[in-house]
Amino acid sequence: MQIRPYRLSQLTLEDFSLAGYSVAGEESVIIAPELDVAFDIGKCPREALTVNHVLLSHGHMDHSAGLPYYFAQRDFQGNEGGTALVPAGLVGPIERLLRAWGAVEGHVPPHRLIGMKPGDVYEIRRGLLAKTFPTNHLPGSLGFALVDVRQKLKEEFLGLTGPQIVELKKKGVEITNRIEVPLVAFLGDTGPADYASLPYVANAKVLLLECTFFDREHVSRARAGKHMHVTDLPKVLEGMDCERIVIIHVTRRTNMGLARKIMRKALPKDVLDRITFLMSRQHIEQD
Ligand SMILES: [Zn+2]
Ligand SMILES: [Zn+2]
Repeated sequence: MQIRPYRLSQLTLEDFSLAGYSVAGEESVIIAPELDVAFDIGKCPREALTVNHVLLSHGHMDHSAGLPYYFAQRDFQGNEGGTALVPAGLVGPIERLLRAWGAVEGHVPPHRLIGMKPGDVYEIRRGLLAKTFPTNHLPGSLGFALVDVRQKLKEEFLGLTGPQIVELKKKGVEITNRIEVPLVAFLGDTGPADYASLPYVANAKVLLLECTFFDREHVSRARAGKHMHVTDLPKVLEGMDCERIVIIHVTRRTNMGLARKIMRKALPKDVLDRITFLMSRQHIEQD
């Protein structure tokens, strides 16, 4: 038996960082500590307990199994319950699941489930919104975009002094414009779809993009499971301006070294320069 360390891989960006583990059919969880969210919860690694929000894309076990553990463990550690934004159709089933666990364990931990439909917006904290959109995977499955809302001084007031600005504010003059800066877009599991037409996806600083399959023989698997095959990426990424594209949810059926090689042939250089694979690299490449 080979014992392999379980580690999250990390990616540090200008304003925030990401830590995660994502392998198709096994586990997907990506934590953004500064943004106080986890995108899917996988089997709930210890690090996921520190964030107050779980954004669940769909119910497949490799993405959702950790949710009851998340609430139970946070309760055990004396943290507040935490909030999970879940596809609206899953609120009932997850409630029943938590109650069943409660019967096993002795009590139901505090929890907050918010049912989300495509197009819904939830305020994670002041100035940080989670926007949802439909994905091409399961009925009701969701993608999430985290959007930073900033107030920017209008151009005509840029030269003013502090007291002058205060004076204008007192008079009730609108001195700022509201701008939305998309930070992360997470597509969950998905087959190809026109995501580039969603501005908060196409302009997100980071795109978390599943690409499950790479082998030519796996195209039919990708279609059947509504997943992305590497040959889908050129079209899906057309018109996307994301600074970083993080590939997640790669199958174990393909060796990572080979996946990288195939990826290099499939995409133009300007796109490749923005691509990173997020997963426990050592863990995978040993196989
Ligand atoms: Zn999956
Ligand atoms: Zn899935």
